[in-house]
Amino acid sequence: MQLTPRPTGTPVTATYWASHAWLGTHVEAGVALDVAGGRFAAVRTGVETPPPGAVVLRGLTLPGLANTHSHAFHRALRSSVQVGAGTFWSWRELMYRVASLLTPDTYYELARATYAEMALAGITSVGEFHYLHHAPGGRPYDDPNAMGEALVAAAAEAGIRITLLDTAYLAAGFGEQPNRHQLRFSDTTADAWAERAAALRGGDHALIGAAVHSVRAVPADQLATVAAWAEERGAPLHVHLSEQTAENDACAAAHGCTPTRLLADHGVLGPRTTAVHSTHLTAEDIDLLGSSGTGTCMCPTTERDLADGIGPAAALQRAGSPLSLGSDSHAVIDLFEEARAMELDERLRTRVRGHWTADALLRAASADGHAALGRPDAGTLEPGAAADLTTIALDSVRTAGPVPRMAAQVAVFAASAADVRHTVVAGRHIVRDGRHTTVEDVPRALASAVAAVYR
Ligand SMILES: [Zn+2]
Repeated sequence: MQLTPRPTGTPVTATYWASHAWLGTHVEAGVALDVAGGRFAAVRTGVETPPPGAVVLRGLTLPGLANTHSHAFHRALRSSVQVGAGTFWSWRELMYRVASLLTPDTYYELARATYAEMALAGITSVGEFHYLHHAPGGRPYDDPNAMGEALVAAAAEAGIRITLLDTAYLAAGFGEQPNRHQLRFSDTTADAWAERAAALRGGDHALIGAAVHSVRAVPADQLATVAAWAEERGAPLHVHLSEQTAENDACAAAHGCTPTRLLADHGVLGPRTTAVHSTHLTAEDIDLLGSSGTGTCMCPTTERDLADGIGPAAALQRAGSPLSLGSDSHAVIDLFEEARAMELDERLRTRVRGHWTADALLRAASADGHAALGRPDAGTLEPGAAADLTTIALDSVRTAGPVPRMAAQVAVFAASAADVRHTVVAGRHIVRDGRHTTVEDVPRALASAVAAVYR
């Protein structure tokens, strides 16, 4: 297993020419993007023909997409969990079975293939919410961060950036010891978690952040330890929040308050924090999240897959919470689908159309997602920003027809991950003409990696 991250940020000097590019508020025809040292040195509009030597990007070029919430190993669950009736909690038993099978080697292969799938979907940065830390039974590996380092290496090999959100997961529920599956997740105390997480190495392509799995999994008196660890490092801090009403009920029984209130009282909320799901909230919760500047990551394809419910994304944003998007359980990996699902879910709930513009939904999938992953310098096509972009075809069966100035609407409301033609990370051409440049056959890599997990 290759565990030395290969830098994705090897200095690249190049010019890309986009036939059309989305510049945050509108689509421009003929945009030249000069790259130096992994960043955009210049973004020139009105360039009608490709400059000599430029790499031509036909279609709509967007900033690289940010997949703000991922559990890479859930990719092995795709389809196999679509049988029979059940709830989030019965799905979780199936998920635990896969978690019990993984080793650092098989997880590396699975994550490499999954992250390559992400690159093919236009994703240039992933937030990996990582809690599968230890060997079965909870025994630490010789390298206590073998699993996390495998994920960092996998992202490097797949050519995308990662923010490894090393997750504190210490309990099965309020006052409950971890069950036999959860022993792999637990460092036993937040102090032990902090010590192990502090040894993680980042890299050019990898940032290290923190996560509280949920208020169920980290005892209230240890939440501040995780928050302080992130604070000291200026690192992103993520937390699953109120995905299920059972969590709210258990929190009320144990602490007499909502999970959001518990997090607020222990210093977990703030502008570096992102709450994931935020499905079942009170009006006070929405106010606490918004007024503290805590971000919200919606994962609509997972939330509908797991029968969670529809979170109040529009109200959260109005209250001051920036929105981002994640593919979470990887039922599908398609940020265009996540973006349109957030809008369409809100339409179903309210019977009103048009809660977000296409521009606003693309910002959630790009700049605001990257910011939630600790990269405020990524997610825009602007001079000085990280040279990360993706290009979708405007001539596929899904996207052909509308005039190019409507291309942002096409991206959000009609395109799919299958329309991605190019992905560039730090100036490097990772996906070219729909093919991954470093992982030769991604479907085969996925098939063999998933088979190896179950072997
Ligand atoms: Zn999750």
